[in-house]
Amino acid sequence: MLSTMQDEPLSLATLLRYASTFMGDSTVSTWTGTGVRTMTYRELGTESARLANALRALGIGDGDRVGTFMWNNNEHMVAYIAVPAMGAVLHALNIRLFPEQLVFVANHAEDQVVIVDGTLVPMFAQYLPNLKTVRHVIVANGDAAALQAPEGVQVHSYAELLAAQPDTFDFPVIDERSAAAMCYTSGTTGDPKGVVYSHRSNWLHAMQVCQPTSMGFSNRDYVLAIVPLFHANAWGLPYAALMSGANVLMPDRFLQPGPLLEMMAAEQPTFAAAVPTIWGGVLAGLAAKPQDISHLRSVVVGGSAVPPSMMRAFQEKHGVRILHAWGMTETSPLGSVAHPPAGVAGEDEWEYRFTQGRFPASVQARLVGDNGTVVPNDGESLGELEVRGPWITGSYYAPDGAVIDPDKFDNGWLRTGDVGKISPDGYLTLVDRSKDVIKSGGEWISSVDLENAVMGHPAVAEAAVIGVPDEKWDERPLVAIVLAEGTEAKPEELRDFLADKFAKWQLPERWTFIAEVPKTSVGKFDKKRLRAQYADGDLTVTTLS
Ligand code: ADP
Repeated sequence: MLSTMQDEPLSLATLLRYASTFMGDSTVSTWTGTGVRTMTYRELGTESARLANALRALGIGDGDRVGTFMWNNNEHMVAYIAVPAMGAVLHALNIRLFPEQLVFVANHAEDQVVIVDGTLVPMFAQYLPNLKTVRHVIVANGDAAALQAPEGVQVHSYAELLAAQPDTFDFPVIDERSAAAMCYTSGTTGDPKGVVYSHRSNWLHAMQVCQPTSMGFSNRDYVLAIVPLFHANAWGLPYAALMSGANVLMPDRFLQPGPLLEMMAAEQPTFAAAVPTIWGGVLAGLAAKPQDISHLRSVVVGGSAVPPSMMRAFQEKHGVRILHAWGMTETSPLGSVAHPPAGVAGEDEWEYRFTQGRFPASVQARLVGDNGTVVPNDGESLGELEVRGPWITGSYYAPDGAVIDPDKFDNGWLRTGDVGKISPDGYLTLVDRSKDVIKSGGEWISSVDLENAVMGHPAVAEAAVIGVPDEKWDERPLVAIVLAEGTEAKPEELRDFLADKFAKWQLPERWTFIAEVPKTSVGKFDKKRLRAQYADGDLTVTTLS
């Protein structure tokens, strides 16, 4: 028997219509270095119509890819919603990719148009001659004349192009399963791979982001979106903001701790989102120059494991609640969020908040052990996390129909490459990425556990642990330490600090002190580069007996 319900497609154009009318007074604001420039959602509606008209005039039709090479700002937010709403596909390019990777992903996605921020024109100009499918470049917030176009490419000024357009657009009714946006993985462990989100997946995902069990957005919120719009579908923030009427604060290019703290002081956001390395910098900034940041009701942190010491510091020194979350480009990205269960309060909350969190109803999760069998959710058994659901990718994008990385899929489940355990009440605790776990004499040592523990030492600003070859044990941990400014610590002292937290055989003997942990294009510890530095003999290692 069929239902009597209407079959209205879950298209992103409905979010734009809703936000620009009933939530028309909500705003998106961009930090300028000294203040903000603000656009209401009503204005966002007319700007989106203008951009859609302009793109249509340039020949962009259904399914064509429109790239962005931009900071987080008002114009990027307009592109984020206008491009899918008109039936084209938004491809936010990661401005920090290595040049070959950037050229690879833009060509692979077959981007036809790229919208570029003025300050990024010099960088983009180096790539443009190698972008095979780009026919138009639109320069926002800058001088279009500064870009020398190769033969066959036209350069336009965003402001002039949009000013000439009507402020209404007949956004089409779109099949909810069609492509809305795409993102490539940031290549932490290999080449970037393309994930294509649908209107339906982004719509359902936005609903989940708005749930109190996730980020709980409402139009009383002011969301500081530090996570770049090109990283993992912007963690779903733009569409969830439009759906809930939450106001958005965009940091543009001002991503250092100092300016972030300045914009927080001026704008008093209620919510923020970024990877742990950003928050490490903010904490150090607060230690140097105290400031009240209790206007933040919550901060969602994910992308890599959040050190417990960081969560405690935010809570106990600054009254800010960090929500630890897990996700991937492939999962839209939510993922689990660590809210403690009802009835748990005070110190008891930490046991839950330190985990990667609980999955929402739409995301099924299971753990698969070494021999390919599913292991129980008993809070002890370890396995590779596999997930499935309406916003989890079922394959990687391949224009020629080739199958990319089939090993990542297991009969309808996505293999995440993350190893962990799940408690009977559904809390995920990740031990490591399978590629990072250290195999010492047939036993596992979690690089993340060692990092989290040693980062609890007051002299340690950052610590990254990698496995290095060892004649006797195959692999042993090497701890790379970045000392906090003005502090000192010897390897013996740091190992003693770990002694009551780990079994004796897990305690590292190899230590190195470095100026900075190399970071990936989205600010995660780049262990590939750290391993290469070790292999090249670039690290000075102390080995304790
Ligand atoms: P990349 O794979 O290039 O790093 P993603 O940003 O999509 O790109 O990374 C997803 C991965 O990040 C996950 O598979 C997991 O290893 C890691 N990750 C994300 N959130 C967390 C978290 N809260 N704790 C530990 N690891 C995390």
